[in-house]
Amino acid sequence: MKIAIVGAGIAGMTTAYELARDGHDITVFEQRSAVAEEASFATGSLLAPLLPSAWALPGFGQPLRLWGADATLRMKGGLSVAHLAWLRRWRQTALRKKAPAMALEALARYSQTRLEAMAARHELDFEAVKGRLLLLRNEAELAAIEPALQILRDTGHAVHQITPEAARKLEPGLHSETPLAAALHIPGASAGNCRLFAHMLRQAIQGLGVTFELNATVERISSNPVAITVRGDTQARHFDAVVLCTGSAPAALMSPLGLVLPLVALHGYTVSAPLREATHAPVASVTDVAQHINITRLGQRVRVAGGAELAGPGAAHHAPTLQRLYSAVNEWFPGGVQLSAGVQIWRGARWMTPDGAPVIGASGIPGIWLNLAHGSHGWALACGSARATADLIAQRAPEVSLEGLGMRRF
Ligand SMILES: Cc1cc2nc3c(=O)[nH]c(=O)nc-3n(C[C@H](O)[C@H](O)[C@H](O)COP(=O)(O)OP(=O)(O)OC[C@H]3O[C@@H](n4cnc5c(N)ncnc54)[C@H](O)[C@@H]3O)c2cc1C
Repeated sequence: MKIAIVGAGIAGMTTAYELARDGHDITVFEQRSAVAEEASFATGSLLAPLLPSAWALPGFGQPLRLWGADATLRMKGGLSVAHLAWLRRWRQTALRKKAPAMALEALARYSQTRLEAMAARHELDFEAVKGRLLLLRNEAELAAIEPALQILRDTGHAVHQITPEAARKLEPGLHSETPLAAALHIPGASAGNCRLFAHMLRQAIQGLGVTFELNATVERISSNPVAITVRGDTQARHFDAVVLCTGSAPAALMSPLGLVLPLVALHGYTVSAPLREATHAPVASVTDVAQHINITRLGQRVRVAGGAELAGPGAAHHAPTLQRLYSAVNEWFPGGVQLSAGVQIWRGARWMTPDGAPVIGASGIPGIWLNLAHGSHGWALACGSARATADLIAQRAPEVSLEGLGMRRF
């Protein structure tokens, strides 16, 4: 089939890869001048397991703190009606425990297997690390994440509760004076550089005959016959199928087709800093559970990720949130990273549905497929979602269940 993919973030790149390997003739359209320039640019890097937190999946982790200096979800004035409606649905999902957590964790695990196979096949060295420590300052933190831990166990992840001493053996850079009540070790967890992976995958899939059109904004999609119109073109281009991997759900593309998704952008931050003293830096990934902050080693850098805010795309960087990221890395790994020079600060959007899960599969409009709205987990879910999308297009049953992840739930 002749298939158009709209969007060259991690979802679009992996989908292009899987469809090209199935023998389809693929063109990827991307509005930016390079791949992985939007949400996939500088993610927190975490792959499976997802270990959902309160704002990554409703109903998991410690309750959201909406106000005050230590708010876990920050709301910056001028919230729209759509924001408030979304928050109401999010809360209802949390109260009714309706988020498809098991399906997501299973998809993340499947994705991890696919990603490892892909990386081995094409020798992609994407700064991968193995193992994650969850740092707990007190018993209450452990109790709060227990529902999420149960899902990990149910999906086959080993999770070991270990002493602070054992944690410091695994991560020798952990500061001995920062209070630590206990830690959870997930040896099978992994992380890696999403943008680097996307760029290396581009090389691999060009070898499979995929065509890339960069600086190409798709302005319109029609069905019957399936066609897209790129800004500046005078004529529509015809395809057998289109897969929307746009991260968000652009109204200009979806509304004319009658497709509406209740998405909001939950912005967050990453700080990537060069190593200062490797023995004082993390070996793999650690999560400060109370603060929802992840600190991950990526090659010669360390990436710190956190923050969740409902605010416009043009909102200024929130200095206190960034300060929390700096403090977390200084508290846990003092002397490990250099924060005075060569630091990359990034603010990105997580496009979230009210149940925190992506939309994967048929759109309901013949020939139009969706693989978007990956929220907080797009890197972790990419390879599995891509394979499942390719299977659905080929009218094969995916190897992993997509129960609760389709368009029909909206
Ligand atoms: C601070 C932060 C930390 C995160 N940490 C993690 C993490 O640790 N693990 C994890 O799994 N996920 C994480 N995420 C989430 C992850 O970044 C996203 O879920 C993922 O990158 C989404 O990928 P995507 O390909 O769907 O979207 P994108 O990367 O945004 O790609 C969509 C692409 O579509 C293009 N596009 C849109 N409209 C058009 C159009 N009309 N025409 C042409 N092109 C178009 C865009 O330019 C863009 O390149 C994090 C996100 C943030 C903000």
